[in-house]
Amino acid sequence: MSRGDGLRNGEVAPGISERWLAQHPYVGGLLEEWPPERVRQVLDAVLELWGCLDLTTAIDWRWNPRLRTTAGRAVFLDMLIELNPLLLARHPEEMEGLLVHEAAHLVVQRLHGRQAPHGEHWKAYMRRAGQSTRATHQLDVRGLRRKRKARRARPRRATTKVEQLLRKLLQGGAGPR
Ligand SMILES: [Zn+2]
Repeated sequence: MSRGDGLRNGEVAPGISERWLAQHPYVGGLLEEWPPERVRQVLDAVLELWGCLDLTTAIDWRWNPRLRTTAGRAVFLDMLIELNPLLLARHPEEMEGLLVHEAAHLVVQRLHGRQAPHGEHWKAYMRRAGQSTRATHQLDVRGLRRKRKARRARPRRATTKVEQLLRKLLQGGAGPR
């Protein structure tokens, strides 16, 4: 199994190409401060604290330069943690808490199955690690939002009788959960 500690062709850090870094040189400080060994140290330390250090080989991580205002995310299918290099370059002090936050998501999913993303299980792991149970960040995302393309308003299509009937029927029943 591949782990984030390994680099692919042309990468200077997991998920970061030399070319991308040349275009975003201010991320260099973050990458220096957080080399793969340090990321793995934090992950291992918290996994050990949670009594599931054996999961370290299953958990992978990488930077994802396409993330915008999300600081990081857990990709359950791949047991993968993705980190936002642009946002974290502004807030390197958030790295440790974020790694624990995302690791907790993966551990909860692996050991307790599907749960509410920031539910009681997740909060319990965060508390055990001495971390905040706040689910959202309040970091400086100026300039990171996706630029909105001007969308042309589409003319509303007139609803047919059948559609009106269907809508009525659907509104009557219990909504999807
Ligand atoms: Zn979360």
